[in-house]
Amino acid sequence: MQPAVASAPISQSTSPADLAALFQPAAPGGPIPTPVTVAMGDGIGPEIMAQTLRMLAAAGATLAPEFIAVGEAQYLAGHSSGIGPDAWDSLRRTGVLLKAPITTPLGGGYKSLNVTLRKTLGLYANVRPVRSLAPAVATKHPVLDVVIVRENEEDLYAGIEHQQTPDVVQCLKIITRSGCERIVRYAFEYARRHGRRRITCMTKDNIMKLTDGLFHKVFEEVGREYPDIVQEHQIIDIGAARLADTPERYDVVLTLNLYGDIISDIVAQIAGSVGLAGSANIGQGGALFEAIHGSAPDIAGRDIANPSGLLQAAGMLLRHLGQTAVADRLEAAWLRTLEDGLHTADIYTAGRSVEKVGTRAFADAVIARLGQQPSVLAAPVREIHATPATAAPAPVAAPAAVEQTLVGTDVFLRWNSGLPDALGEQLVAQVGDVLRLKLITNRGVKVYPDGHAETTCTDHWRCRFVAAATAADHYEPVDFTAVLALQSRLTAASLQVIKTENLYLFDGQRGFSLGQGE
Ligand code: NAD
Repeated sequence: MQPAVASAPISQSTSPADLAALFQPAAPGGPIPTPVTVAMGDGIGPEIMAQTLRMLAAAGATLAPEFIAVGEAQYLAGHSSGIGPDAWDSLRRTGVLLKAPITTPLGGGYKSLNVTLRKTLGLYANVRPVRSLAPAVATKHPVLDVVIVRENEEDLYAGIEHQQTPDVVQCLKIITRSGCERIVRYAFEYARRHGRRRITCMTKDNIMKLTDGLFHKVFEEVGREYPDIVQEHQIIDIGAARLADTPERYDVVLTLNLYGDIISDIVAQIAGSVGLAGSANIGQGGALFEAIHGSAPDIAGRDIANPSGLLQAAGMLLRHLGQTAVADRLEAAWLRTLEDGLHTADIYTAGRSVEKVGTRAFADAVIARLGQQPSVLAAPVREIHATPATAAPAPVAAPAAVEQTLVGTDVFLRWNSGLPDALGEQLVAQVGDVLRLKLITNRGVKVYPDGHAETTCTDHWRCRFVAAATAADHYEPVDFTAVLALQSRLTAASLQVIKTENLYLFDGQRGFSLGQGE
């Protein structure tokens, strides 16, 4: 069947009705168009989305777009996450969102729409394939073909922040075993499906031994099931430096949420432009496809933005829906356009580019090349972004019965009345005979007993209490009533308890970090 071509070129209109009309309705005996939720976004969003939809329709994508409003206008209308209730109805119905970038208004009180969508829909895997398009697009790294697989729901992006004292704020880094297993398994399955040979896991577990340490440990555990994939681990700082320096030695990079956010932008930028890469957010509750860049307000409304990143995301969406042939046609035409030197301003290079084109003219050029193949660049990469049948993660093994033993408590105090020894002596006087004060740290460094006078202290003190009978290398169980009694005594002594964390052993293994110097 001939693909539907957008014969009557629409005006510059980005109105949803005009854009939806580009797609062929269901014909008797023909394929049923797949409903897809579409968000036009802010800034350059409406321009690049309009052109992406034109290219999709011209290539014969069988889609029925449903438009939703998200972003700046929704924030300003009082929806603190940038999305209104009607949009959720569409998302629940379609389970698939093609989203242009949005602008998050500056100022407090606004929650990130992206984080909200990812967490609400359970989109635990963020997949960002980036490759060099040399010689068509200038880059210092002509050999680069890397897929970043980023955990998408946990880490510091859990968004749990508190101010605890006038001087101290904190952000909780939440990592779960089940979340690690889901993303690690996804990365290995992805590598297998795509013939990728190596996974490099990047963490900072030399410092964050429990959180990043769990991610690394699960990588090694799950990795035993995939002996066909070469596996390595690098500390994120040197890993990121090597990735920027010699990206040709990397294949799939698996990492936690924050690190993945940063390194995927680095890789896209060194490949040529942040305007070239798309990303898929995949999970049980659906899938979200978007360019990796933002709404670029500096160039909005000027018809100069590169629509390629969103087009790449749209290609992933097509493969997700099983419309692989259409995705291949689009990718081939796109590569051919780049090879022919028709470049938007962000990738235009004198001597290499033939013509500087705007957003719409670039889309026209891609549409004109549908059916053509690239002559120099490799054939289209067949990314298979977890079709619905395979989107569900392998069931996470229910944790076996684990013995959890209370062995102490960390009491955090706001205190401002002198040197650490004075606090230590006051606490020792309050503590009773069931628990004993083991140490006090300030910003994680031991300051009592035997602290260093040079340590800078703030108004936030972590006071560790353990069972009185605890030996240096052996913790004794503590009854929770002793923890409650301690808090009562401290409060009665006018000490301000701002937070407590219980200290547990899990099957005899310490479930808390030691203080620096403990
Ligand atoms: P940005 O990615 O929008 O822009 C960074 C630079 O890259 C700018 O110079 C811009 O002109 C250029 N650029 C980006 N996309 C381009 C394209 N397609 N073609 C040509 N040039 C392009 O980052 P920013 O300026 O830090 O953020 C702007 C807004 O976007 C902010 O409100 C931010 O919150 C938002 N943002 C949204 C998303 C999203 O919706 N997924 C992601 C990142 C940032």
